[in-house]
Amino acid sequence: MKSDIEIARAAPRRPMAEIGAKLGIPEDALIPYGRDKAKVDAEFIKTLEPRTEGKLILVTAVNPTPAGEGKTTTTVGLGDALSHIGKRAAICIREASLGPNFGMKGGAAGGGLSQIVPMDDMNLHFTGDFHAITAAHNLLAAMIDNHIYWGNPLGIDTRRVVWRRVLDMNDRALRDVVVGLGGPSNGFPRQTGFDITVASEVMACLCLARDLADLQARLGRIVVGYNFERQAVTCADLKADGAMVVLLREAMQPNLVQTIEHTPAFVHGGPFANIAHGCNSVIATRTALRLADYVVTEAGFGADLGAEKFFDIKCRKAGLTPAAAVLVATVRALKMNGGVARADLGHENVAAVTAGCANLGRHIANLGRFGVPVVVAINHFDADTAAEIAAVQAYVAAQGCEAVLCHHWAQGGAGAAALAEKVVALTERPSAFAPLYPAAMGLFEKIETIATKIYHAGEVVAGPEIRAQLRAWEEAGYRDLPICMAKTQYSFSTDPALRGAPEGHVVPVREVRLSAGAGFVVAICGEIMTMPGLPRVPAAETIRLDATGAIEGLF
Ligand code: ADP
Ligand code: MG
Repeated sequence: MKSDIEIARAAPRRPMAEIGAKLGIPEDALIPYGRDKAKVDAEFIKTLEPRTEGKLILVTAVNPTPAGEGKTTTTVGLGDALSHIGKRAAICIREASLGPNFGMKGGAAGGGLSQIVPMDDMNLHFTGDFHAITAAHNLLAAMIDNHIYWGNPLGIDTRRVVWRRVLDMNDRALRDVVVGLGGPSNGFPRQTGFDITVASEVMACLCLARDLADLQARLGRIVVGYNFERQAVTCADLKADGAMVVLLREAMQPNLVQTIEHTPAFVHGGPFANIAHGCNSVIATRTALRLADYVVTEAGFGADLGAEKFFDIKCRKAGLTPAAAVLVATVRALKMNGGVARADLGHENVAAVTAGCANLGRHIANLGRFGVPVVVAINHFDADTAAEIAAVQAYVAAQGCEAVLCHHWAQGGAGAAALAEKVVALTERPSAFAPLYPAAMGLFEKIETIATKIYHAGEVVAGPEIRAQLRAWEEAGYRDLPICMAKTQYSFSTDPALRGAPEGHVVPVREVRLSAGAGFVVAICGEIMTMPGLPRVPAAETIRLDATGAIEGLF
């Protein structure tokens, strides 16, 4: 089997005008970015508003192995499969961050024959959106220090500035820094740090905003720090919101590319799945829904985190109604949930697969709580045995659900045609979608609701300062915000080693953060890294151009 990049590079591409035409996008509404990428014009997007929307299908997964279970691969494969059975389909996924590409091997464009192209561009600078977000974020940071330098009329307490700087790179040396050193002409020294761009609240704002006016309003609400009276100082107080939107004007327009099989794919936005909500932009999803009959999208991490945040944050806030959910399971992930060590995943072990199915069963039941019909997609790997696959299918059938075996990674869309047929049938049912908790519920109660209902935790523990902080935000007008949970993706609990379907565990809330612009309160339960580091042998050491000028070693 060829590598992902070899497959992607060899794949012939159709002109972007032809890809746009599949969705009825006129050529003059496509803004070309090179030969095989385009942005969709904001003016054209406005004209789509009166249209009825297609069916929204979420791809999510069981608690994964560290290698990933193929959510993106299945999102792309299902999009191609829907096209294959004659449906007007589009795909919506996130853009890639540079940091992970040069750290651990692995891109974000799918895999095998289910990939987005051009995958090298998509995994590198793409259309420059992340650079624009980095610039807008750092403009605000510069304006904070500049405000303090010129006499600080807002009375910003330099010890309570919460707005850091960002860079789209894994660079642990920048996690904590002191700025303003070098004497009076350089400002006032204070401690701060860098996060990776995908962790920026500007990213989350861009991904949840309806349009440019809504984006500016969200950016304006961002809390950058506190004054000496402990009152919030916002981006709008610093008058930075207008210039930030100017920097983000192009970035706000969704990017259109294609799959290897020429299905239209919107690749736009890329918020972190831990301290943010982890799905592509609302504007891309909405645009796709107004142009296609079926839109397949992905939420980061397992369904306990990704699907919950997709429903409770993105769908609730944007007024989207998901029509179906596809729960990706792999034999290897179920084995791992059944207690098998990573090194032994290659051997047949039906008993472990069956034991691990408890994890799958919990996710099926959880998705049902949101009123969304669900089908399980078994993403087939070469090492899977017939007995292991049969065990998964029998378990799922006993839950009153269906598990469809899929071969899209090896065969492209045709390999997932059965899944596509099943999904189409599911979306014919009326959707009974409802978020897990009402907006009016108290912030701590919301955390408890997610922890007990979705994670099956026995208890949520939080110190008095955390409870007091949540109460203070409720009084300041933030009570109606949804919660963005940040915890390990490997377990229903906060302990990555606790696999399967644990019950009665304790969820400790270590920290809470207000993302007033994005519109959620982050509850951090466990170690969360907002500036990753590179591994001992970073992928960057083997990435280079070959003799023909093609990129080697990226994936
Ligand atoms: P996720 O979105 O869940 O993180 P990806 O779709 O990005 O996962 O896939 C992770 C990696 O696994 C990719 O390198 C992809 O090529 C590979 N992969 C996915 N499905 C299969 C499969 N069925 N067989 C072999 N490799 C696969
Ligand atoms: Mg993915």
